Amino acid sequence: MVIVGGGPAGVMAGLLFARAGVSVRVLEKHADFFRDFRGDTVHPSTMEILNQLGLLERFLQRPHDRVLRAQVRIAGRDYTVAEMSHLATPAPFIAMMPQWEFLDFLRDEAEVYPSFALDMEAEATGFIEDGGRIVGVKLKDGREVRSRHLVLMTDGRGSLVRKLDLLPVEQLGAPMDIFWFHLPKADNPGDALRGAIDTGRMAVLIDRRTYWQAAFIISKGSGEAVKAKGIGWLREQMQALFPELDLSGGLGSTADLHLLSVALDRLTTWHRPGLLAIGDAAHAMSPIGGIGINLAIQDAVAAANVLAAPLARGENVDALLAKVQQRRAFPTRVIQAGQKAGQDNVIGAVLSGRPIIRAPWPLRMLDRFPLLRRIPGRIVGLGVRRERVRSPAILLPSPLMGEG
Ligand SMILES: Cc1cc2nc3c(=O)[nH]c(=O)nc-3n(C[C@H](O)[C@H](O)[C@H](O)COP(=O)(O)OP(=O)(O)OC[C@H]3O[C@@H](n4cnc5c(N)ncnc54)[C@H](O)[C@@H]3O)c2cc1C
Repeated sequence: MVIVGGGPAGVMAGLLFARAGVSVRVLEKHADFFRDFRGDTVHPSTMEILNQLGLLERFLQRPHDRVLRAQVRIAGRDYTVAEMSHLATPAPFIAMMPQWEFLDFLRDEAEVYPSFALDMEAEATGFIEDGGRIVGVKLKDGREVRSRHLVLMTDGRGSLVRKLDLLPVEQLGAPMDIFWFHLPKADNPGDALRGAIDTGRMAVLIDRRTYWQAAFIISKGSGEAVKAKGIGWLREQMQALFPELDLSGGLGSTADLHLLSVALDRLTTWHRPGLLAIGDAAHAMSPIGGIGINLAIQDAVAAANVLAAPLARGENVDALLAKVQQRRAFPTRVIQAGQKAGQDNVIGAVLSGRPIIRAPWPLRMLDRFPLLRRIPGRIVGLGVRRERVRSPAILLPSPLMGEG
């Protein structure tokens, strides 16, 4: 099979299908995984899956920080709004790990399987069709990669299936975009994650040890207008949200700002003969709740559960593709509905400039009653429909074989 896109969905799917003995070729358009804009949160649901695969211990040996509860600063006061430490799961916390590190880890584990291959700098630009079935992809460099049984699209929200109008998209809308930039920080562990909301402004900081990765939320389409206000304006906004930060030496020019467009949408049908889309390619997720990576991983597990065994036997799986969508459409709809509610009621309100004097009452309740915080903690940490790895695993030759 061919997998287009080496993000969380694609590399995890590659690992699972290769583990089942399916010959897998993952095509990734970039030369490496080192991109800043992908999000850093590995949730308990993902670590539960890594544990089922026997990989959790090795994963946790990679550099990461642990977040046991979610806190947000609203109009200058800190509120604790979600708690995960009580969850009955092998890793009841969010592991904050830069995504390139997570993808490196998955790639290293996938390469253990002889039928796994990853081609970097291999951008798919078109499909090969035969009798109405997709049977491969064309690459930008002119090569063709054929796959008799399945082309799995994990190429994110700008997926080729959208660009070429292969599958219909339903837009849910997102009111915001994000400026993404670095801020100076002493080389020591701080708080892994900080969020702050005030009248007309909202930002998040992620601790990357030697610097803060910062996200400043702006109204959709207002990037140029915000840049025109000058870098000094943005520095003032960040200082007002996080008075404790020392910003000297940071935010030198608007050239340091990367504009990230936020989308919330989904395909109405995720498949057609020979092709299936999962992860953001099937449903673009907003950063709210930091859930998109974990949903993409769960999609990969569900796809392998349904398809890996028949693919390993060399069977045609066209009739099974709808089953993957049936399994994953429900959690996608529920989580996107939650993200939309957050966008409309919180982010939309902040961006409209409505005065923020204190937290809305549900957040005040969560802050006041620790037991209540377990509910959002469970939803964010474990998701709506947990996936369990059921796809088969081939036996690997033992490293000790032949010795002694
Ligand atoms: C600003 C922002 C912040 C976010 N923060 C978080 C967060 O903290 N936590 C979280 O869980 N989610 C976060 N999300 C959502 C999250 O990034 C996505 O839901 C998640 O990355 C989806 O994974 P994926 O593997 O489906 O797609 P992607 O991560 O988008 O991966 C797609 C891959 O396909 C490759 N590709 C694209 N086109 C082609 C092609 N034609 N040929 C070959 N390769 C191709 C891309 O280079 C990429 O590597 C955030 C989203 C945004 C916009």
